[in-house]
Amino acid sequence: MADPALCAAVVKANGYGLGAVPVARALAAGGCRMFFVATLDEGIGLRQAIGEGSEIAVLNGPFARTAAEFLAHGLIPVLNHPGQIEEWTGQGTGHPAILHVDTGMARLGLTAREFAALIDNPPPPIPWRAVISHLACADDPGHPLNESQRARFTAAAARLPGIAASLSASSGIFLGPAYRFDLVRAGAALYGVNPVPGRPNPLRQIVRLTAKILQIREIDSGESVGYGAAHVMAGPGLVATVAVGYADGWLRSLSRRGCGYVGGVRVPLLGRVSMDLATFDVSAVDPAQARPGATVELLGPHYGVDDAAADAGTIGYEILTALGARHHRVYHEPATTNPPE
Ligand SMILES: *Cc1c(COP(=O)(O)O)cnc(C)c1O
Repeated sequence: MADPALCAAVVKANGYGLGAVPVARALAAGGCRMFFVATLDEGIGLRQAIGEGSEIAVLNGPFARTAAEFLAHGLIPVLNHPGQIEEWTGQGTGHPAILHVDTGMARLGLTAREFAALIDNPPPPIPWRAVISHLACADDPGHPLNESQRARFTAAAARLPGIAASLSASSGIFLGPAYRFDLVRAGAALYGVNPVPGRPNPLRQIVRLTAKILQIREIDSGESVGYGAAHVMAGPGLVATVAVGYADGWLRSLSRRGCGYVGGVRVPLLGRVSMDLATFDVSAVDPAQARPGATVELLGPHYGVDDAAADAGTIGYEILTALGARHHRVYHEPATTNPPE
């Protein structure tokens, strides 16, 4: 989609919860040569894991007296405000950095006035690796801010001729070629989150989450299940208690709304999600499949990251980045191989 722009991979927040190191190693093996993380610590960890072959940029940029750490680990800071530019040039000139200009997000990046001052009164020369900005409404193609941000960014980039320009993250890539410039910064789309909400997901689901059934219980009509007695059985049924809870990122807001799948059969989540456990109605499942030790599929082809997000009242990004440290992460070779059942 990004072609002919270069595609950098955003692997902040531990690779959106999936594991920054294995994700980045796989992407590097697939030809990715530029990574973005959020923090200096993430950058140092990634550099140690993937070696020298790729560029690593740090979106949050340097705090005071951290520029030397960036240099020591070969990290490229994104400079978001004049203080960061000062911190960087204080380490001497000749060290590449990325300039962030704000075009309407009002979060990070030089304001229009700060950018004009930079052009009129340049600091000691910085070899700019790129000039970037970030779209506020890229997931809503009809939003007028997209076009105005694109126009402001085009004007800003024109003041820095010959420097790679980068405006779009995942959703921006899908706004069309005019939004792709020289470099795109794909995060969520790499992990299967739908970059075009409300339309069919053009990307494959790559994350599958399963959890084990600990216990099956027969419950009579009128009995309640779980904390707060939040679910009362309308009829007799079978309830599976599953080893996943909000401490694992199976969000408490999925209480009474989420679901899982056992043997391809939908099993509704009953009552409240607790810290380490959740309960599912497995009355409709073949008892040979719903037994202690069997697995419930929580994310997968039937119920994807964006489906869970809709039920939890959030976005796919939060479902992924919430995935907890207790999950055992297993990585499969790309494309042709299917995960074992
Ligand atoms: C997180 C982030 C990205 C990646 O965004 P996705 O929507 O996940 O593709 C790109 N650029 C910046 C500045 C970001 O903060």
